[in-house]
Amino acid sequence: MQLIFMGPPGAGKGTQAQLLAALWKIPHISTGDILRACVVAKTALGQKAKAYMDAGELVPDELLMDIVQERMNEPDARAGWILDGFPRTVAQAAFFDKLLCEVGTEGSQSGKDCAIRAVNLDVPDNVLVTRLLSRGRQDDNEETIRRRLQVYREQTEPLIEFYSAREQLVAVDGDRDMEVVTAELQQALSGDS
Ligand code: AMP
Repeated sequence: MQLIFMGPPGAGKGTQAQLLAALWKIPHISTGDILRACVVAKTALGQKAKAYMDAGELVPDELLMDIVQERMNEPDARAGWILDGFPRTVAQAAFFDKLLCEVGTEGSQSGKDCAIRAVNLDVPDNVLVTRLLSRGRQDDNEETIRRRLQVYREQTEPLIEFYSAREQLVAVDGDRDMEVVTAELQQALSGDS
């Protein structure tokens, strides 16, 4: 199982990705979590990333690429993975295609035979803002939220078309109870497990 979770901030991708990863016993890889850990640990990378994260901007692609490359080379990632929050730009998606060929993961070619699925959780903006404001993370103030949604629409939403054209897209309505969304995801993805 090789899954990419897309969807705007607040769509529930972290929650759903975590649940499914536990269920299928594969790693849940969240680039946001990795970056936040780097910020807390005050690593060189964390220090570079912090200002972007606090402003609701994307961290530059080059910084993400090293993180993801390192994580995908860990032994536990050979059995499959759920990526949460990566790729977030078309450049990251292109990099990721190349990386998968290098690490020799099955299903690395594009096309409909590919085992990778890209899940999009669709949720209207007004629901997202309400959910994010109640979450209370450091980058969840109203100004940053608005910027993150704008960045998502501009830079990440084009990936929906990217994966749809390759027949890898699984689109799910995320504006429902968590359990309902989980059940639908399981059903939509069960052919791959
Ligand atoms: P998330 O936890 O996925 O909402 O990510 C929190 C923040 O980390 C984002 O607002 C970005 O600043 C940064 N971030 C996480 N993943 C990426 C990525 N793939 N590309 C660029 N920035 C990212």
